[in-house]
Amino acid sequence: MKDPSPTLDQLAARVAELEAEREMTLRLAQTDSLTGLVNRGAFTSGLCERLDAARDAGGTVSLFVIDLDRFKNLNDSLGHHAGDILLAELGRRLHEDALPGELVARLGGDEFAVVSDTAEVATRAERLVATLSQQQTIYGRQVSPGGSVGVAVFPRDAQDAADLQRFADMALYRAKSRGGRVWSAFDAELRAESERRRNLEAELRRAIPAGEIEPWFQPIVDAMTGRMVGVEVLARWRHPTQGLLSPASFVPMAEELGLIRAIDEAVFEAACARTAPWVAEGLIELVACNVSPRDLLDPGFSRKLIGRLSRTALPATALCVEITETFLVSDLSLARRHIERLASKGVRVALDDFGTGYSNLRALMHLPIQTVKLDRSLIDDVGRDPRVSKLVASMLHAARALGVCITAEGVEDEGQALFLRSAGCDRMQGYFFARPMPAREMEALLREMNTPELRLAVAS
Ligand code: C2E
Ligand code: CA
Ligand code: CA
Repeated sequence: MKDPSPTLDQLAARVAELEAEREMTLRLAQTDSLTGLVNRGAFTSGLCERLDAARDAGGTVSLFVIDLDRFKNLNDSLGHHAGDILLAELGRRLHEDALPGELVARLGGDEFAVVSDTAEVATRAERLVATLSQQQTIYGRQVSPGGSVGVAVFPRDAQDAADLQRFADMALYRAKSRGGRVWSAFDAELRAESERRRNLEAELRRAIPAGEIEPWFQPIVDAMTGRMVGVEVLARWRHPTQGLLSPASFVPMAEELGLIRAIDEAVFEAACARTAPWVAEGLIELVACNVSPRDLLDPGFSRKLIGRLSRTALPATALCVEITETFLVSDLSLARRHIERLASKGVRVALDDFGTGYSNLRALMHLPIQTVKLDRSLIDDVGRDPRVSKLVASMLHAARALGVCITAEGVEDEGQALFLRSAGCDRMQGYFFARPMPAREMEALLREMNTPELRLAVAS
């Protein structure tokens, strides 16, 4: 027998069902699956809607951005699953603590955000910091991750969503740099900083083709004889009004803006031209150049570098390329290809900032790296703190066993130099010997030093 046609009620129920399903699908697409909070996409559109509404009604919108302190440590020590439990629990607390009408989102990783129309910004921020600091038990262990909070307010600080986020991030960054577990609000100081960055960005784009980024040179000495064997090339920006700027004030920005490759190329070419005669005359035998982890992600990096090198008078065997572990972690097989291609032409590769990460030893064992540069942070306490001295001595021992040459960076006094030499360090670099200097000064130093050992000697 044929089914009777559905009644009006049945049809209405089916339509309601379909609508509920659609709503559920929509909600899922806007929800972070781990915490059940709003996800980044929905957060962005929600923030824009609230700004539009506040603009029409003359209201205010406060954006709190949140980042956990040392979440990575916890993830590494207790495992990803424990990290997930912590994030889910935190999401629940943030949701429970929310004031009526607030939008609480997980932006990704250990980053959260709260959009609020509260007038009590300080009280709200303090409560967020307190929520983040509450203890949790995970796998029977008490953890209290703690977090930092950055705040920016519409319309006082910013006029649109992009600026509001950028400014809240700047405030968050400042809170973190103060040690975390605190909050910080965008203010006049950060506004000045933001304007400075914006101007600097425009100027950096102009400075590279204008030749304002120049190579400086710092001596690298043989640890046994104190003789200067080479130089490390360090970029400096000769800014027309601000004077000489060090890499810390422009390299991170250049990396963000994708300008670092242009800088590295300009510095490299100028450095090769300057140092080739020094090498040809036998004054030095090594020229060490820094390359950004970004450069190395380009599969054509080593081929292009060899091409550029061949257009200079600097012999390949004098060049050492300094790379950092950030890159090795991201792509070990690409690293191997670059290093092998460079080695086939006689170019050496050094692992920079050694001792600051923990994947370094693995890289050392698996890659044909000839030199490591022991990071300044390790050298600082060498000869003063017996534990650090022991650690450095055993690192030197391990490197020797692998047939790797070690250069210690940031040697600032005689005590450090003597300790490093007795522990078997091969080469040293640091203010104790000489600070980085412009090409002309380096040239003068090299030429007047026909007995370089005497100028840069390590006292015995
Ligand atoms: P780095 O490669 O680790 O370079 C060593 C830094 O330590 C240099 O800082 C040097 O001036 C400083 N230094 C050397 N000896 C001492 C010492 O005894 N005490 C102290 N306190 N510091 C010492 P600088 O020139 O400011 O360069 C900072 C970083 O910027 C470099 O660290 C490198 O990572 C990056 N950098 C420099 N030039 C370039 C470049 O041309 N391209 C790229 N991609 N990065 C560069
Ligand atoms: Ca370096
Ligand atoms: Ca270094």
